[in-house]
Amino acid sequence: MIAMRGVNKWFGQMRVLADINLTVAEGEKLVICGPSGSGKSTLIRCINQLEHHQMGDIVVNGIKVDAELKTLDLVRRDIGMVFQSFNLYPHMTVLQNLMLAQVWVQGRKRRDAEEVARHYLDRVHIPEQADKFPAQLSGGQQQRVAIARALCTKPKIMLFDEPTSALDPEMIKEVLDVMTELATEGMTMICVTHEMGFARNVANRVIFMDAGRIVEQGPPAEFFSNPQSDRAKLFLSQVR
Ligand code: ADP
Ligand code: MG
Repeated sequence: MIAMRGVNKWFGQMRVLADINLTVAEGEKLVICGPSGSGKSTLIRCINQLEHHQMGDIVVNGIKVDAELKTLDLVRRDIGMVFQSFNLYPHMTVLQNLMLAQVWVQGRKRRDAEEVARHYLDRVHIPEQADKFPAQLSGGQQQRVAIARALCTKPKIMLFDEPTSALDPEMIKEVLDVMTELATEGMTMICVTHEMGFARNVANRVIFMDAGRIVEQGPPAEFFSNPQSDRAKLFLSQVR
């Protein structure tokens, strides 16, 4: 589903991704962890080209990703993304937030878009919030709306960038539960998260990054019980 080969990215003089090689199979669930500034966000943002890499190849669902508008459209059609800050439109209701891209980007009829929107609101367990504005919802509910919104365009891959980092502790579980349900249903997922319980229960593979490199990867049981590098050991001692 995703193949990155020899991917390098610089911000000015600073190399933030160094020789990234990574393949993700259909239905696989990856968790990416690592210290702040290690390049986790940049890596997943390169997959849907919110950031452009300067060297190497990225292939998503058979399409080689580059900065051309045509390929951007094709690739982004297959990818949903959820950010730490929920990025909902504050002046639109939940339902309007969910319908926007469907109607204006995908050209769905309003009636169909509304049906899809209500379906995914159901799936994230907040059908009763359809007519509220984002500010009237809790953080956990807003993040579930953001997940539903990403799902409305029927992506094949979901990218999550620290989706629970901005949430109060009591709301983290409701978001992780929705992500776990998605995983169970077979979605291909890459999640940048420090929720190690989620990684243990849901991930097929954990990737540990440091200074722009993939330092270690393996099944969660292996990574958590027997990290190889000192950097991973240190990191785990700080998040657990
Ligand atoms: P992480 O998500 O692991 O915390 P990031 O991918 O956000 O790390 O950042 C990796 C490095 O790239 C950091 O040193 C960060 O300061 C730098 N960086 C990220 N985005 C930009 C940007 N738009 N311009 C310049 N430097 C950036
Ligand atoms: Mg980040």
